[in-house]
Amino acid sequence: MEIDLQVMERNGYAKDGNQESKAKPLLVMKFGGTSVGGSKPIKRVASLVEKYTREGNSLVVVVSAIRGVTNSLVEMGNFIKQNRRLDLELSLEDIFYRHLEVASNLNLPHPLRASLDDKIEELFFGLHSLALNLKETPPKSLDRILSYGERLNVPIVQAALSARGVFAEALDASKIIETDTNFGFASPNMERTEQHVKNIVEPMIEMGMIPVVTGFIGSTMYGDITTLGRGGSDYTASILGRVLGADEVWIWTDVDGVYSDDPRKNPNAQLLTELSQIKAHQMAMAGARVLYPKTVEPLIGTQTVLRVKNTFDPESPGTKIYIKQG
Ligand code: ASP
Ligand code: MG
Repeated sequence: MEIDLQVMERNGYAKDGNQESKAKPLLVMKFGGTSVGGSKPIKRVASLVEKYTREGNSLVVVVSAIRGVTNSLVEMGNFIKQNRRLDLELSLEDIFYRHLEVASNLNLPHPLRASLDDKIEELFFGLHSLALNLKETPPKSLDRILSYGERLNVPIVQAALSARGVFAEALDASKIIETDTNFGFASPNMERTEQHVKNIVEPMIEMGMIPVVTGFIGSTMYGDITTLGRGGSDYTASILGRVLGADEVWIWTDVDGVYSDDPRKNPNAQLLTELSQIKAHQMAMAGARVLYPKTVEPLIGTQTVLRVKNTFDPESPGTKIYIKQG
């Protein structure tokens, strides 16, 4: 029988055929806006990532914008349209200092801090000149503006990881998630995305590096930045989970998991510890707010387990979503 060693290696078996040396489990972990909404929660995220890495997993981290930043960027779009230059300038300044403050409160060692400040400044200048040069905000320009929330936050999370000695590298999802041209609500081209992920993400993982990826954004085949829809970082994680054939995709958020009803409105709402993919997909599409509506879709029919977990109570079991009847 002819054995294809490359295929075996891809499937996680070392050349010696020793089953014990099966590749590490691959987990895609997405942290939402509250989980990365300041220096304290970012430190918590860094310690979680370190913990799961030390436990022998390979990780891909997907990061949202700092809580409230995407809303501020949407508002900036309105200021541009209404020619409210002063409000626009104030809003830009606010965004700049918000990120610098989070970076500063991470208490990074000097070289890390200096290079993080440089990255924030460079990105911010890109946003600043874009915003000040626009008179209108067609969807294409607005997506470019909105992309800065995630693009500014990723280097911060990456620096927090580096400070703990975790080997992590920032990665802009516009390099890997290829979408159609439906700006504001773009859909991924899975084949093209899979190709980019094979070329860019897989080699990083093989080198033992943790890619820290911007949620929410992609780009068209022409290189224009797109966004996947508000709240779309969850979708970024499940798209990556699918094309990587990940073992699990974890959506870290600020609630314990998926509930039978909105727990803020219904005190009898139950935490659902297990859900079938189909049921979870139906619930998300019907507006269960904990997941972006399309999150489950890329994983339907795959063996990849999707979990919803609470960053602020990581030991609580969360909700496990998988191929399950009923
Ligand atoms: N930052 C984006 C938003 O606020 C995407 C996300 O948080 O998932 O919509
Ligand atoms: Mg969300």
